[in-house]
This record gives sequence, structure tokens and C-alpha cells, in this order.
Amino acid sequence: MKRLVLSAGILLFPWQELFAEQVRVTINKKTVYQSEVLKIQLIQKSTAPFSVNFLGRKHESFLMGRRQTVLLGIDYQLKLGTYSITGVLKEADNFYFPIYYKITVREKFPKLKYVPPKRSEKEQARINKETEEKRAVLERIDYQPDSMGHFARPVHPAVVNANFGEKRCRDRTLWRRFNCRYHLGIDYRAAFDFFHQRPEPIRAINNGRVVLTESRIVDGKTVVIDHGYGISSEYLHLSKFSVKIGEIVKRGQIIGIAGKTGATEAIHLHLTIKMDNGKTIVDPESFFQAVSK
Ligand SMILES: [Zn+2]
Repeated sequence: MKRLVLSAGILLFPWQELFAEQVRVTINKKTVYQSEVLKIQLIQKSTAPFSVNFLGRKHESFLMGRRQTVLLGIDYQLKLGTYSITGVLKEADNFYFPIYYKITVREKFPKLKYVPPKRSEKEQARINKETEEKRAVLERIDYQPDSMGHFARPVHPAVVNANFGEKRCRDRTLWRRFNCRYHLGIDYRAAFDFFHQRPEPIRAINNGRVVLTESRIVDGKTVVIDHGYGISSEYLHLSKFSVKIGEIVKRGQIIGIAGKTGATEAIHLHLTIKMDNGKTIVDPESFFQAVSK
């Protein structure tokens, strides 16, 4: 009995190495930094679906550009180390290829100690309420598109004012900066006139369903869109909403007008992209590199 199990193991191992990864499925990188996005995709155009398990969550593939695809977000604070991705590719009825990858997560954003500014009790209570409300909305997102088109940036031209992960510090003494947090999105320029006063329309980065339109104390007027498969996008500091909660939007559709509502002084668009129903925050640039044309 023992010998039988042993030989089955030896036989299985080279088979899965040869067939699943090297012939059928690709991954865009095996060494990945915090906040980046992994893309696992079938090499050939096919409707054969697959699924993978990563960090205890099961991810079903979806059609993207006619290829079965799974996107895995590496949260900007995910613990460093080696992780495995396991799954199966269904080639036909009762015919499966195993999928197995080992990936290494490297550090880009060491943990920071941050003490937020003191606010009045009333203000803090409102912030806590808004934070909890959005978390609950994202946890429940369940939009199910038949297929996923490519993503597009929300402003054209897309000029970056502040990158993901830049340090925002509250205290500064001569050369040194203290009490910093990371900027958890990208700021795009959204007023192109000479005086930087005329705000641009903001566009949905992909098809989806509007799940939140709200005037928030820090984020200002905010739209959140559910794109399916746990992926969401948030558009902050708008001056005007052009969509309502529950509305189905198309990629490129105007969802609002840029502005400077909330805690900001100049007109710009702050875009946040989350995966895994709000649990994973990724760098929108890394996301767009994986999913735009
Ligand atoms: Zn920002």
C-alpha cells in the first residue's frame, strides 16, 4: 500500500509540471512586490475555465479578451514570504489539469506607525460610520458580468499627480518627516486649463454597477463601482455625481465631474482600486498594466 502511494506521487509530479503551467496556463510574474497584481491566464483562446486557491480564497476564472483569466491582488501590506497558488484547469468533462505555482512576495511598503489627527468626537464618529458603511458595501458586492473587458484610465489624458504609496507625513522637523502614512490610490490631474479651475468629466474604468454615491467627510463626493469578481474602483473628491446607486455603467461612461470636495485643496481625481471584496488594496498602475490593452 505504501509503495503504491509513493509511486503515484512520483508519477503525478512531472505530469503537473509539464502540462498545466508550461503548456496551458501562464502567470505574469513569480516574484511580486506588495501592491502588485498577478495575472494567470490561459495561453490559447478557450472557454475552458479554471480556478485557483490563494490565501484561502477560491478565484474562478473569467473571460478577458477571450482568454480565461484570474487576477490576484497582492495587498500592499501582505506579509512577505512564499505563497502557493493551487488550482485546476477543466479541459473537458472529467479531464482536469492541476495548476501549481510558488510565488515570492517582496517588500515595498514597510509598516508605518501613524497617529491620525485629533478630531472632534462628532467628526470622528461620522468618519467611523462612513468607513464601516463602505466596508460593508464592498463586502457584499456581487456584480456578475458575462465577460470582463479591458480596463481604461478614468481621465484622458491620464497625467499622474501623485503615485500610489507616496508617503504623506503630518509632522516635519527640518529634514526629517515623522508620522507618515501611505497614499492608497493614484491622484490624476483633472483640470487642464491654465488656471487649473475647470474640472474634467470622470469616466468609469470598466463596466460595472454603481454601489455607492456619497458625500464623505474626508473623501468628498465619492462614487464606488463594482466591476465583478470582487474588483471595485473608487473615485474621490468629485464636484458632481452623474450616476445613481444601482445603475449599470459602461467603460468610459461619465460618472461624475472632478472637484475638490472633502479633505483636499486642489481639483484632482483620487482613484482607489480594491480586490477581494474590499480586502485587498493594490496600486492602480500595476492593476492597469495587467488589465489594460
Ligand atoms: Zn489621493
